Amino acid sequence: MPKPASRLNKIAPSATVAIASQVRDLKAEGREIISFSIGVPNFLPPAHVYTAANNAVASDTGNYLPGRGTPALIQAFQKRLADDDLHYAEDEICAAVGGKNGLFNLLQVLTEEGDTVLYPAPYWTSYPDIAALADAKGVGIFCSAAENYKLSPEKLRTALQENNDAKVFIFNNPSNPTGMLYTREEVAALAEVLMEFPELWIISDDIYDKLTYHAPFVHLLDVEPQLRDRTCIVQSVSKTYGMPGWRVGMVACPKPIANLLVKLVGQSVMNLNNISMAAAAAAFAGPHDFLVPIKEELVMKRDKTLAMLAEVSLPCPKPEGAFYAFPDVKKCFGKTSAGGTKIENDQDFCGALLNEHGVALVPGGAFGAPDAVRISYACPVADLEKGLAKMATFVQGLV
Ligand code: PLP
Repeated sequence: MPKPASRLNKIAPSATVAIASQVRDLKAEGREIISFSIGVPNFLPPAHVYTAANNAVASDTGNYLPGRGTPALIQAFQKRLADDDLHYAEDEICAAVGGKNGLFNLLQVLTEEGDTVLYPAPYWTSYPDIAALADAKGVGIFCSAAENYKLSPEKLRTALQENNDAKVFIFNNPSNPTGMLYTREEVAALAEVLMEFPELWIISDDIYDKLTYHAPFVHLLDVEPQLRDRTCIVQSVSKTYGMPGWRVGMVACPKPIANLLVKLVGQSVMNLNNISMAAAAAAFAGPHDFLVPIKEELVMKRDKTLAMLAEVSLPCPKPEGAFYAFPDVKKCFGKTSAGGTKIENDQDFCGALLNEHGVALVPGGAFGAPDAVRISYACPVADLEKGLAKMATFVQGLV
């Protein structure tokens, strides 16, 4: 067989996708598996979203559609942004096949070969690989559990000084995998540092912005509007509206960048499908009050998760948004599980928990933090309770 290109050697398969397929295989073998591993929100979109999708089927023309997005999608997204005082013209927007594709397209457009892309670590698992596919180099700025996994302005400044070839800074708030939410003061302090580096692009990955529990989400552009001409906003219907499989993401950014995104879309995916765009338009247009009970339930699940972690003395900064907890499990390293597995690292921890108790987590190394593991607690409450009890038994059984 002729050799395929080496380009794909630069990236690893998505850790979360790999664990999801391992879970599927184990279930197919008849094992009872509780998965805390996948970042899906465990609810379906409101009824008006399905009505819009059905109407789109009924009036479908089957034609190619605008790569930037249909006018209805763009208008609904503009309204969604304007509700948070972010104002973008139609030619400052471009649709994508999910937030992931929005990030992929942005890094293709913004970085040259060898450029550095900085982000706080723990980071979303795909950032380094998306950077590598753009021939850039992803660099995480590590922030420990003791620092609440949050980037301080001092650390950001030092990282930008040390990586003076940095072209892009990605900021994800609230964070996957930690659930941390930055306060207004913290966002303002980071914005002040970003103002000192005028050659840097900023990608604001806002896909969990409406999934905050008590304190509100504060945007970098809210505290420092002067960053607008080098900031690109990434949004998605995946998490907020329970629509990960519909694959609609949006980018709002300066017009020249939006036009380059449209150019790239025109030579790659061409356009999103009519039905997904109509459904996403209905979702973005709102109302958003369906999120109130969902967030109450997430707080309850967060608290159950934290209670179990406290019971087994695993430190975990308190998540204030998204639906992930990221406990530090370093104290388990060097011990042996009841099933006889030596736990040397995050992968051994997750492997033994899955094999011996049927509970799937994601090793923290996939997010640049190998002392931790990620628990996605958005699953049904009965599964959550059962899985947490099994995880407690596992940790208490380590000797
Ligand atoms: N950004 C972050 C921080 C995420 O957690 C995810 C998904 O887990 C994405 C982007 C991409 O989401 P999607 O492509 O489903 O919109």
